[in-house]
Amino acid sequence: MKLIHDRGNGRTHKRGNGQSNGAGILNRYVLVLNQSYEPVMVTSAKRAVILMLLDKAEEVVHYEEVIHSVSWQMPLPSVVRLARYVRTPNKDVVLTRKNILKRDNHRCQYCGRSSVPLTLDHVIPRHRGGPDAWDNLVAACHPCNVRKGNQTPHEAGMPLLLHPHKPSRITYFQKFVRKHQDAWRPYLFMEPKA
Ligand SMILES: [Zn+2]
Repeated sequence: MKLIHDRGNGRTHKRGNGQSNGAGILNRYVLVLNQSYEPVMVTSAKRAVILMLLDKAEEVVHYEEVIHSVSWQMPLPSVVRLARYVRTPNKDVVLTRKNILKRDNHRCQYCGRSSVPLTLDHVIPRHRGGPDAWDNLVAACHPCNVRKGNQTPHEAGMPLLLHPHKPSRITYFQKFVRKHQDAWRPYLFMEPKA
């Protein structure tokens, strides 16, 4: 496969062998929906275009840019829908410190501060039987963690901002939405851009 695309005043060539000069718009994120319109994955525009050329997916929303080959051109896809329903394996988001901080938007879940060093706090303290689990671990700043000590939020009088939960894949996909991806919002149950 060989694609050529224009970007502004420059022209970039990209070939299917993985070699390219310039990342370009073919690396732009594309949201892939199942036939049922349920989000399945985020992929590159290059892979989405290949799916479309093979009639395995159709465009739902496109970006402003256009992709050219020698003989055709098409709008750069932003959201595509699979032609056939695919069963998606239940891919769990892994429980790691990094993913907990990401879920909590790098914000202390007791005082709401961000831009401070964060620790992980066991909501029910560990040696009172609190497990290492999505619903028992939250981001907490050091002062809040110390103040809470060996108490539950209720005992310490420190209510959580949000009840912690295991992040869904939808939540994961939402993290890809930037200015370019506002058109994804309806498919990811997000409010329209204000
Ligand atoms: Zn705090």
